[in-house]
Amino acid sequence: MGSARKRLMIIGAGGVGTVVVKKSARMDHLYEEIMLASRTKSKCDAIAAEAGPVPVRTAQVDADDVPQLMRLIGEFRPDLLINVALPYQDLPIMEACLATGVHYVDTANYEPKDKAEFEYSWQWAFHERYQEAGLTALLGSGFDPGVTNVFTAYAAKHYFDEIHCLDIVDCNAGDHGMAFATNFNPEINIREITQRGRYWEDGAWRSTEALEIHQPVEYPRIGARESYLLFHEELESLVKHFPTIRRARFWMTFSPQYINHLQVLRNVGMTSIEPIEYQGMQIQPLQFLKAVLPEPSSLGENYSGETSIGCQIRGVKEGKERTVYIYNNCSHQSAYRDTKAQGVSYTTGVPAAIGAALIATDVWKAPGVWNMEQFDPDPFMELLPSLGLPWEIIVDGKLAFLPCGE
Ligand code: NDP
Repeated sequence: MGSARKRLMIIGAGGVGTVVVKKSARMDHLYEEIMLASRTKSKCDAIAAEAGPVPVRTAQVDADDVPQLMRLIGEFRPDLLINVALPYQDLPIMEACLATGVHYVDTANYEPKDKAEFEYSWQWAFHERYQEAGLTALLGSGFDPGVTNVFTAYAAKHYFDEIHCLDIVDCNAGDHGMAFATNFNPEINIREITQRGRYWEDGAWRSTEALEIHQPVEYPRIGARESYLLFHEELESLVKHFPTIRRARFWMTFSPQYINHLQVLRNVGMTSIEPIEYQGMQIQPLQFLKAVLPEPSSLGENYSGETSIGCQIRGVKEGKERTVYIYNNCSHQSAYRDTKAQGVSYTTGVPAAIGAALIATDVWKAPGVWNMEQFDPDPFMELLPSLGLPWEIIVDGKLAFLPCGE
């Protein structure tokens, strides 16, 4: 893209969008102008009013509509676009970027609206078309997926000859003071948690009931928290790109209060995505539930405590067994002071801004569709602390999990 300042378009004015816009708008050495577009323009205007020094323009857009997206892109002429709308919009936005010659970044892989299932096949299918167009698409540049992929690539590059076991551990030990709220889009969050669990072992995916496997895990500065095995999208790309991995799992903490609410909502049918007839209208119970739950972007002000997300890795280096734990802890209050957003939006938005900055500076750029671990992890790891997400590494410490095969 050369060294002149770039034009950046961001789609989605939710919790994550707030952080991406505010962080990117501080990069005036990199960007000359930003456009924030989303379904509700007033939300874009409220974010733009607090962002700078890079000027932020706003617009209304329905990102399910490819011709509408192409018109808006044609007007603003961005060099690259960050998609922080919902996973449903990944494919139309990727199509529009391809048609208009714009690089693409997102934080969550595509899932169809009518099926609570996510996988990379739909987006990987764009690889050759992006290659032919000379465009870069960077998939999953949030925290998990995102930083967890980069942590794994960094450990593989500097600490291991072969990685054998990977456990990604995600703890939110924060308290937002609400009886029940989700930290990112409620519809996407509940779809993810209520689907069957899945993990990789000995060359195959093993399936579990939703939230069936759980155990306490010790988190730095937080202590032991009950952690539940879930399927998470980075497992799919990481076992593909690090084929020596024998077992890969993802764990997330939930409080007993959260689990109780979720169980009741599931038992009464409120988490279902099967449409029902209500007063002559077809509605999805989960979409209705989303409408009554707090917006993730509204949780910031009174949120206390911190998140802790990291990768616990086992493998070998020069014939010797070794363990590595790389993690970040992020305080909800420091995230709020920096961007007026809570820690989960922050830990997602900062890596999205970094991924885009690496493309804008030609540091991470190659024609095609890529997952984070396919690029050199070092420049990304260097930027994380200066943008608000410092990380720590413990080599040959005690890990929560047994080695593979035991
Ligand atoms: P929010 O629900 O707060 O924000 C989503 C935004 O997208 C809203 O502003 C919404 O508009 C807008 N939007 C939805 N549909 C459309 C559409 N058709 N056209 C235009 N705009 C649309 O979600 P979050 O900010 O919490 O999450 C954003 C993304 O980040 C999600 O894809 C989520 O899965 C991902 N994520 C990734 C994480 C990671 O670590 N990798 C962690 C957390 C989230 P409106 O306000 O009008 O509804």
